[in-house]
Amino acid sequence: MSEIKRLPYDVVVIGAGGAGLRAAIEARQQGKKTAIISKSLFGKAHTVMAEGGAAAALGNVNPRDRWQVHFRDTIRGGKFLNDPRMAELHAKESADRILELEYWGALFDRTSDGKISQRNFGGHEYPRLAHVGDRTGLEMIRTLQQRVVQLQQADAVELGDPDAMLKVYAETTVTELLKDGDRIAGAFGYIRENGAFVLFEAPAVILATGGVGKSFKVTSNSWEYTGDGHALALRAGATLLNMEFVQFHPTGMVWPPSVKGILVTESVRGDGGVLRNSEGERFMFNYVPDVFRSQYAETEEEADGWYTDPENHRRRPSCSRATRSRAPSTTRSRKGGGPRTAVSTWTSPPGCRPVRSPGGCRRCTTSSRSWPMSTSPPNPWRSAPPATT
Ligand SMILES: Cc1cc2nc3c(=O)[nH]c(=O)nc-3n(C[C@H](O)[C@H](O)[C@H](O)COP(=O)(O)OP(=O)(O)OC[C@H]3O[C@@H](n4cnc5c(N)ncnc54)[C@H](O)[C@@H]3O)c2cc1C
Repeated sequence: MSEIKRLPYDVVVIGAGGAGLRAAIEARQQGKKTAIISKSLFGKAHTVMAEGGAAAALGNVNPRDRWQVHFRDTIRGGKFLNDPRMAELHAKESADRILELEYWGALFDRTSDGKISQRNFGGHEYPRLAHVGDRTGLEMIRTLQQRVVQLQQADAVELGDPDAMLKVYAETTVTELLKDGDRIAGAFGYIRENGAFVLFEAPAVILATGGVGKSFKVTSNSWEYTGDGHALALRAGATLLNMEFVQFHPTGMVWPPSVKGILVTESVRGDGGVLRNSEGERFMFNYVPDVFRSQYAETEEEADGWYTDPENHRRRPSCSRATRSRAPSTTRSRKGGGPRTAVSTWTSPPGCRPVRSPGGCRRCTTSSRSWPMSTSPPNPWRSAPPATT
């Protein structure tokens, strides 16, 4: 035991990807003495592989976007299995996180009027992904690392030691969490360079070790994704939740074997790429769940229109945000007695020009075949109550 180096901290963060670095920065900013541990080199976390961008309802490219639409897209994409509170926090706070990254020095691509650019992505109603070409993760890590160094430099000036409050332990692998009774008490690991054992003593340990994708033979994930954090937590007595949810990228390289599994960025579909099976068929139309069918394109022509002329083809949320009203001629006051024969009807918001189709109101369009407003049932929106967006 005398050979084990003991290191006392307020907070120990295991993992130096986007999640771990941001958590460590916050802990340090809150005045906690913090350790960041990474089993790979500092700056080499899986996060550098993220390509397409980071989703945040900034509304820079389409001003209709807002956190509520992002929340709805997230819940819809999660097939209503998401933890609603987590989805809400994500939708509400991601815009601030992007602006914070920019404040710390991230150089995002810009729109023609100088705002942070946002691109289309699968499952997002509006262009929403802030990005840096297709190397967004690299820029995120560079920026967060720079913020860590900035805080260390401030400590060097004020406390005479850059590592006094925030220290990085790179190429250090944690193999066990420590407990004192029921409470977490630290983490144990080894330094790869010299094999030395280290024991981090801390009342708070944050697990930010990434995913489990490397459990699969063909994967777009890095070698680091061996689910270490899950194993550490499980062995320490934690309950693992939602383990059946593993993200598989829908597009990846298959040939030659040396590149099998490497991601073909998801933004190829956001930018109009299509998926075909071996028969050349655009098969995704067969897999739209019924509950979402009214919100997706039904034909290849319509789907292509979403890219060539999105303003006039996409099924806007505003189209389904109908307002409820009563037809005055059929309403009598309660005081007047008699049967109450009020007829409720749904009317579309101004500017929304729905077209009639078998399932009801389908989309906003500039088509001259506008749907005359009905003042009496049956109304197709009745069967599908309007979503609040
Ligand atoms: C090819 C690809 C492209 C992607 N593109 C996007 C995208 O465009 N947009 C998007 O939002 N998401 C994207 N993702 C997903 C995204 O990259 C990840 O969800 C995200 O980077 C996870 O960040 P993290 O901080 O949780 O984990 P990571 O970045 O993997 O960090 C994990 C850290 O934990 C450390 N670690 C692990 N085990 C131990 C241990 N035992 N001891 C010490 N340290 C340990 C690692 O060294 C690493 O520093 C993509 C994923 C892939 C594979």
